[in-house]
Amino acid sequence: MTLIRNVVSVIILGLTVSVKLFSIGTTVRVFNLGDAKVSLQIYTADNNHNQYVFVHVHENEKASLEAGFKMLQKYGGKLLTLKHSTGDLPNRNITFNYKGKKYEIDPNRIFSTNKLILIKTLNTDEKNELYIAEAADQVESMAKAIWEEISNAPCIVALHNNKNFPEDCHLKFLFGAKLVEESYNITSYVQKSGVMTETTRSAADIYINPAINNSEFFIVTLASDFKQIAERRFNVVLQHNQPVDDGSLSVLSQQKSMRYINAEAKHENVHIQFEMLEILHDIITGS
Ligand SMILES: [Zn+2]
Repeated sequence: MTLIRNVVSVIILGLTVSVKLFSIGTTVRVFNLGDAKVSLQIYTADNNHNQYVFVHVHENEKASLEAGFKMLQKYGGKLLTLKHSTGDLPNRNITFNYKGKKYEIDPNRIFSTNKLILIKTLNTDEKNELYIAEAADQVESMAKAIWEEISNAPCIVALHNNKNFPEDCHLKFLFGAKLVEESYNITSYVQKSGVMTETTRSAADIYINPAINNSEFFIVTLASDFKQIAERRFNVVLQHNQPVDDGSLSVLSQQKSMRYINAEAKHENVHIQFEMLEILHDIITGS
C-alpha cells in the first residue's frame, strides 16, 4: 500500500488558498489470462465514503479516468481500473495468447454469468472447444474477482469515453465510397427508421437535452436516478429491466439488482466528465 499526501493551491477570485486533497492508497491484484498479465489497480482514499465506487475498464479511455481521480481526491472514495497494455499506447481491448492461439476480449463484455455468452465474447481463431472453454474459465475468474471488489458498494459508477464522430462517406480510390456509421452516442438508443437494434431494445426510457452534445450522457438502472438526472436536464438513458445480456457490467448489475450508473463522455472531455460526476455525487449523496 502506498500513500500520497496532496496539498494544492488554487486561485479563487484572485485569492490563493490551500485545498487539502485526500490521500490515496493503492493495491494491485494481478490476473493471468493466457500469457498476459492484467492488473486490477484499486485506489482507495483515506476518506472512503463508501457511497459509490468508480469502475474504469477501458484502459485507453483516459479522460474518464482522470475525471474519476479528481473526484477521488476531492471527495474520497474508491476507484478501480484495469491495466494490461504492453506497448506505448493504452489499448481498449485485452489480448493474450493461450495454447498457441491469440484471443481478444472487450473488458466490458466479460461479465455474463452465462458461459455460452461469455465464450461468444472471446474473439479467437482457435477451433478447439476445450481450449476455448479453458480460456473462458480464466476470463470468468477475473470477471468474478472484479465483481467481488465492487458489488459491496451501494452504487457502481462506471467511467467511459466515446469517439463521437458523425456518419461520413469515405472515398476509396477506384472503389467508390464507403459509408461509415456515426459512432456510439445517446441517439444510438433511439429507434431510427423503424429499425430496432440490440441497443434500442436495452433502453426503457430516454431524456435528451438538445443543448448537450450527444456524446455526454448517463445510463442508469434505477428509475429514480433517471428522474433526478432528467430533472437536472442532463442526457440520460434508463436501461430496460430485462436487457439483452451482452456481458456488460450494466447488465450484470441489473441482474443482481445493483444500483449502476454509467457516465459517458467524449474522449479528452475531462472537464465535462468531471462536471457530470459532480452531478452524480450530489444525487447519490443527497447533497
Ligand atoms: Zn468504455
